[in-house]
Amino acid sequence: MTIQEVAKKFQELFGETNGAGTFFAPGRVNLIGEHTDYNGGHVFPCALTMGIYGVMRKREDRVLRFYSLDFPEDGVVMSSLDELAPLSDKGWTAYPKGVVWAFAKKGYVVPAGFDFVIGGDIPSGSGLSSSAALEVLTGAALRDTFGFTDLTNVDLALIGQLSENEYNGMQCGIMDQFASAMVKEDCAIYLDTSRLEYTYAPLQLADASIVITNSKVKHALVGSPYNDRRRDCAKALACFKEHLPIESLGEMTVDQFETYKDLLPDPVVRVRARHAVYENARTIQALSALQAGNLARFGELMNASHVSLRDDYEVSCPELDLLAAAAWEVPGVIGSRMTGGGFGGCTVSIVENAALPQFQEALTSVYEDAYGKCPEFYIVRPGEGARALEM
Ligand code: ADP
Ligand code: MG
Repeated sequence: MTIQEVAKKFQELFGETNGAGTFFAPGRVNLIGEHTDYNGGHVFPCALTMGIYGVMRKREDRVLRFYSLDFPEDGVVMSSLDELAPLSDKGWTAYPKGVVWAFAKKGYVVPAGFDFVIGGDIPSGSGLSSSAALEVLTGAALRDTFGFTDLTNVDLALIGQLSENEYNGMQCGIMDQFASAMVKEDCAIYLDTSRLEYTYAPLQLADASIVITNSKVKHALVGSPYNDRRRDCAKALACFKEHLPIESLGEMTVDQFETYKDLLPDPVVRVRARHAVYENARTIQALSALQAGNLARFGELMNASHVSLRDDYEVSCPELDLLAAAAWEVPGVIGSRMTGGGFGGCTVSIVENAALPQFQEALTSVYEDAYGKCPEFYIVRPGEGARALEM
């Protein structure tokens, strides 16, 4: 997808692009720190060069017109600024409409309607956060189109999260929107989700690459076990708070967890909390490993993350487990784990360049044998965050 293709569609549907703005927001892949963001822990994503492009132009009335090149069957979706209703909206336009709604909630009332055409190349529903990219894209477009110039990219991330939480009913943390809005080219961003403090970590992988493997199992996160996991973690936190001065599981050390874990009467809640605490500790170690150039250690932490997501947090699925386990067997694979919310989607692996062909062959072969379909591979170059584009 290119911005030119999106602009061409805009012209066909809505006339000349004069006076319109052009924008891009990327998807992301999380290297480590999974399901830690809503627990006040750390995450470590980088942006993809894949993302969503958009062209937006202001209207004189209160009409909203949307078109996505990726949902042509929906045609032009018409709405109005006076029809925004949280939790009742269906279809893909619930995401951009949710952002308009969240802008108003934050005091940035969009004063007029707009025409908005988008198109992207993030496989959606694969844990690469096409929904967050769409929210951040919409935020960047509204900011420019309506002159809300004091909004920062951090604000756009928070507004995107608010809209996904309250308009779309998906209790996601801040990671996805933050990554899409804030990441820099050739870097991963190490983010403390409780304080929103972040560090850019250059991804110097020497002779290795980041490879995303798409299981092509689509997750459906809204109303899924994702919200249940959040509830389990909230229960654990409430128990711990009676005895410890903490505000989130992300503040607990592994030693503290081991000392106090028996305060949690429910064994399921205990293993959920164990994942949140240990995964956060792994993510903190992963930054040090990367900064010290110790990629082997980084890979071990990724592998341990997968095991914890599989066994303690129970958000993996047989397909992802097979892909990760097959990757661990290939010489030259530094680390491999499921990435994103889980229940399908993708794994992320760091693979020595010389081993890339063997990696793809091995995973394709076991996956085809087991499931009769080929996984899809994307070799990733860490891209730049959301921005306005020149045409
Ligand atoms: P993920 O964020 O992991 O990709 P989600 O289920 O959270 O998966 O979000 C996917 C949804 O986001 C799609 O079903 C669609 O509603 C919306 N979406 C994503 N990309 C696009 C796009 N290019 N055009 C229109 N809607 C999109
Ligand atoms: Mg999503």
